[in-house]
Amino acid sequence: MGKPEKRMPVIGVDLDGVCADFYGRMREIAAEWFEITVDELPEDVSYGLKEWGIHEKKQYESLHRYALHQRELFKTMPMIPGARKYLRKLSDEGYHIRIITHRLFIHYSHASAVQQTVAWLDGHGIPYWDLCFMKEKSEVGADIYVEDNPDNVTELRKKGLYTICFANSTNKHMHAPRAASWSEVYDMVHAL
Ligand SMILES: [Mg+2]
Repeated sequence: MGKPEKRMPVIGVDLDGVCADFYGRMREIAAEWFEITVDELPEDVSYGLKEWGIHEKKQYESLHRYALHQRELFKTMPMIPGARKYLRKLSDEGYHIRIITHRLFIHYSHASAVQQTVAWLDGHGIPYWDLCFMKEKSEVGADIYVEDNPDNVTELRKKGLYTICFANSTNKHMHAPRAASWSEVYDMVHAL
């Protein structure tokens, strides 16, 4: 019998705020929604977008539905620089890329959400083996997580899972490991 094959780690990668510039694109769409200029909406937002006057779940969902169906949110977000380059490098080195996203949180919009997501991933040349639409990210069994949502980062770390917080204005309070760019994610993965 030969040596047991060394399994390369599975990297669980979040999409919004990590690979795709959710807040940047959402800001443009929200400006249209409120009929104001983009400059009137602060760039520094927290999770839930209260800085843009969104205080209730219902409001958030209305804006989100408009963004998804009328402005193809998941298809039109710019890629966060470095996502393609460094995910491809990691994938070529043998790491297993597993995309994990909680994009199916509004009922009866799933076809659009999934179609826009796969079109975006292919269009931007993001390499991946698995695509999981999951709220409970710890249950997909990745070895390393890259995530920006502060609640998710906290939950994953509580369970002892190595989680790199991808820095943006919603997670300023989160401690290391914290990456401000994809090249930093790459270095952190390698340092493990
Ligand atoms: Mg996210």
